[in-house]
Amino acid sequence: AVSLEFHGDTRILTISNQKGGVGKTTTTVNTAAALATLGARVLVIDLDPQGNASTALGVPHTADIPSIYDVLIDEFPLADIIQTSPESPNLLCAPSTIHLAGAEIELVSQVAREHRLRTALEDYLAASEERLDFVLIDCPPSLGLLTINAFTAANELMIPIQCEYYALEGLSQLLGSIRMIQKHLNPALHLSTILLTMYDGRTRLAQQVAEEVRAHFPQEVLRTVIPRTVRVSEAPSFGQTVIAYDPQSVGAVSYREAAVELVLRQRAKTNEEGN
Ligand code: ADP
Ligand code: MG
Repeated sequence: AVSLEFHGDTRILTISNQKGGVGKTTTTVNTAAALATLGARVLVIDLDPQGNASTALGVPHTADIPSIYDVLIDEFPLADIIQTSPESPNLLCAPSTIHLAGAEIELVSQVAREHRLRTALEDYLAASEERLDFVLIDCPPSLGLLTINAFTAANELMIPIQCEYYALEGLSQLLGSIRMIQKHLNPALHLSTILLTMYDGRTRLAQQVAEEVRAHFPQEVLRTVIPRTVRVSEAPSFGQTVIAYDPQSVGAVSYREAAVELVLRQRAKTNEEGN
């Protein structure tokens, strides 16, 4: 197995795309689990009221469980709600519960409503004894206040793109929102990574979409592509990521390769800047 050394700053990525069903949650949990197997300490923040990321990480998130809702609305410390996934001691999760569905509206009347998550995360990182290498934030499929909280807290935007019709549709709207966030809330936020998912290499369409996305974003698209496979889609029903559910499957191998790329590209970039 590949093992990498981790040191330096915590990378905070928001996994976003305002379309639903494009693989945001699948990419968040499997990339996080893959990074954990490489030796990184990873926190997944579940910002989707559906709680699919919490489910996939095997973390309880019924209505009575302290959750990211309490952090955003009642200023609970993140440390009070974080759970460890049974998959790995390196894999943490700030779960979402059904209460989060109301947060989008409740946040509107709150002070510093766009900065709630950022402040909570900064406080956590400053106080925590053990450092985190990655924070991955799973966003809901909209550009509301929950997603804005994620954009304000993160340094990097990672977009999963489904290799199907209309893959690029809505992307210019997303990038426009990012420019607004950069200007008004978080100058550090930038598009760092695009991951092509649900790829079916047998179809001409998937190949065309992949080519088109690579032509538009030559720097950002990972070489690794995640194929469409049943193992990836059935893992969550066992409360697992595909990394734990079937480590040798092509889906697990692909997500581990994507994770290695995510780490090595950043290191190459940092070295370039240093020279
Ligand atoms: P989003 O979070 O963007 O709504 P999901 O990650 O929940 O999207 O994925 C949508 C659906 O597609 C889910 O049923 C998921 O299991 C399935 N899916 C995601 N990636 C793959 C893949 N590589 N192969 C097969 N099914 C996938
Ligand atoms: Mg989702």
